[in-house]
Amino acid sequence: MNIRQFLDLLKDNGEFEIEKLTLFFENRCSLEDTLFFTSDSRKVKNNSIFVAIKGKRVDGHDYVNQSFQNGALVAIVEDSNAYEGLCIKVDSVVQFLNNLASILYSKYAGYTIAVTGSNGKTTTKEWIKKLLSLFLTKQSIFANRGNMNTEIGLPLCILNEMDERKQLSVIEMGMSKKGDIEYLVDTYKPNYPVILNIGTAHIGNTGSLENTFHEKIKLLKYHSFEEPLCLNCSDSFLKKFLEKNKSKKTILFGYFKDKKVGFTGVYLKQHQHCIQNHEFFTDVKLILTQQKKETEIEARLQGFFHQGQLLNLCAALAVVSSLGYEVSQITNLSAFVRPVKDRFEPVFVGNHLFIKDCYNFSLESLSYALDLLKNLKTKNSFKRTYCVLGSIAEAGSFDSEIYDKVGILLNENQIDVVLLYTKDPGIKGIQRTYKGTILIFDNISLLSKEINHQKQAENKSIFLFKASRSIQLEEVFDHVMDVIN
Ligand code: ADP
Repeated sequence: MNIRQFLDLLKDNGEFEIEKLTLFFENRCSLEDTLFFTSDSRKVKNNSIFVAIKGKRVDGHDYVNQSFQNGALVAIVEDSNAYEGLCIKVDSVVQFLNNLASILYSKYAGYTIAVTGSNGKTTTKEWIKKLLSLFLTKQSIFANRGNMNTEIGLPLCILNEMDERKQLSVIEMGMSKKGDIEYLVDTYKPNYPVILNIGTAHIGNTGSLENTFHEKIKLLKYHSFEEPLCLNCSDSFLKKFLEKNKSKKTILFGYFKDKKVGFTGVYLKQHQHCIQNHEFFTDVKLILTQQKKETEIEARLQGFFHQGQLLNLCAALAVVSSLGYEVSQITNLSAFVRPVKDRFEPVFVGNHLFIKDCYNFSLESLSYALDLLKNLKTKNSFKRTYCVLGSIAEAGSFDSEIYDKVGILLNENQIDVVLLYTKDPGIKGIQRTYKGTILIFDNISLLSKEINHQKQAENKSIFLFKASRSIQLEEVFDHVMDVIN
């Protein structure tokens, strides 16, 4: 967005001294210059607007002066301290950001598909975008960047990147607590809701899976029954919801065994993983149903995708198909369905397989990951499987119950050794149920050394690295790669 557009947005939003601000900008740059909105003073660059967000741990107001020292043009703030540059004072910075972004969004976004769910939002959004780019020009599609799916990330992304009218937008709506989805839905009013699954992520904040379901279903607040809606018919909560809400406009995805007659849907029928010359492949057979017609979609995907990710693929294909695009005609699905960075990414080091999965840790994603590991171990004669684990964030009072279940899953999937990275000590809870060998580290170097040592002891092992995003287990992974390469 350029400065002129920003000034117009401020005007649309009421309350500011536009003439003074216009003069201020004109004295410093051109009104045609592009602005960059950021809440991180370290990322301030030319023509930046710094937004001071009061977070749980960090208060952006402490960094307003640093943002000016780094060159910010203006800061948006909530308090009236004497800062070193021009500030726009508002009651709530987050609300202000969303007000501006929603004005822009309502003008430019076009038809909106909104994806929510406990797991797989980013992957599904990326794949919907990629698949749509086969039928529409890239410029006509907007999608939020990465996992910028919160009441802070989403407006920042819109303000920075939505610079012209789009035909279609695909956005994620993330939730970490009660009210989050409703807030985003009220602000960005989607046309086509997609609900992937109801899982244990953030259960500490919602209090129960039931509550998580009720929060996610708020995605339908403005849904018109003239418009499609996409649901996972293999998810127990969504399945029940579906039984009571039978609109023919509902588009389904899930396992083939859960197929529902009379609905358009995409189902996962078979899948198999294989390794050839140190390259990874997932062979899939999907079924597309449209009224009484069933079409088989077979593909060899490059990379390893676990069942959860393959269900995301079904969701993406179901959405794109329901918009009238012939997904069964896509001959090279593999070119569009690529692994999303840092989400279950495999890499060979010699004969050892390392999997980097440091973006999200929930019982569901662990269960899918371990299932894949177990199959790989048997089929490809790996000698041992190791899990390098960090904590699950926001499990709250469910901590012990969840870690007990993690331990049980590790037992059931015959994990040989677990290495714990205890930056957050919660993960130690798995000791109550896990019966294999556990090694505990709070230090990246020692942990990396141990992994290197274990690697040298065998000639063919699998190492899965998994933790919630906040643990930054990727630092351990990267350190290990440095040590062993
Ligand atoms: P989100 O955006 O909901 O956090 P991502 O697409 O970023 O989800 O994936 C994050 C993690 O969740 C990765 O570890 C991935 O392996 C796992 N995952 C992805 N899709 C699913 C799914 N449908 N069910 C369970 N786990 C999933």
